[in-house]
Amino acid sequence: MFNLILFGPPGSGKGTQSEKLTSKYNLKHLSTGDLLRNEIQSQTALGNEAKKLMDKGHLVPDEVVTGMISSALDSNQKCNGFLFDGFPRTSAQAEALDRLLDLKKAPIAILLALEVSEEELVRRLFKRGETSGRSDDNNDTVIRERIIEYHRKTSPVAEHYQRKGKVVMVKGEGSVDEIFSALCKEIDSRINEKHD
Ligand code: ADP
Repeated sequence: MFNLILFGPPGSGKGTQSEKLTSKYNLKHLSTGDLLRNEIQSQTALGNEAKKLMDKGHLVPDEVVTGMISSALDSNQKCNGFLFDGFPRTSAQAEALDRLLDLKKAPIAILLALEVSEEELVRRLFKRGETSGRSDDNNDTVIRERIIEYHRKTSPVAEHYQRKGKVVMVKGEGSVDEIFSALCKEIDSRINEKHD
């Protein structure tokens, strides 16, 4: 199993690159943002509660997202590996993920961190808001709040994996294909040593 985290602030291109990476390496894409939006769409109790927080740019409680990831891991026992997108987003989530993957004897092989300037992030999120229909993408205050949450709660996740020597920074500005090649280069150099 080869498990990787695609990391970076909102608007850094995780969703776009995840699609390409999961198809190239035949990994299961687990995006907590997508899982939560599915819950909202189905109007579940979890979805209704999550929407209130997401619309303010705040994070959903750790237990909620960790529970969703735990079930997704259970229902995909036979895949080649997982690509985590938008998760873990707090230190507590990172610790919970490590515990779940320890049980599978398949720890995180690499955390790829997309680096994008704040100015570019805000520009991309607004642009996405014009077409995505996502209510958290078309309001300046909500966009800024998500970036603040990222700096406050999510950046420690990179430090957590840095201590394990798993972090690789990749420039997240340039064409989609250029960024994709840079990510693949890093994965290729690790997949052979870690994949079994
Ligand atoms: P983006 O990367 O553009 O912020 P996501 O789709 O990853 O988009 O997340 C959208 C929103 O869903 C977040 O702002 C947050 O409210 C919620 N969310 C997604 N993943 C998590 C998570 N792991 N922990 C807490 N909240 C989350």
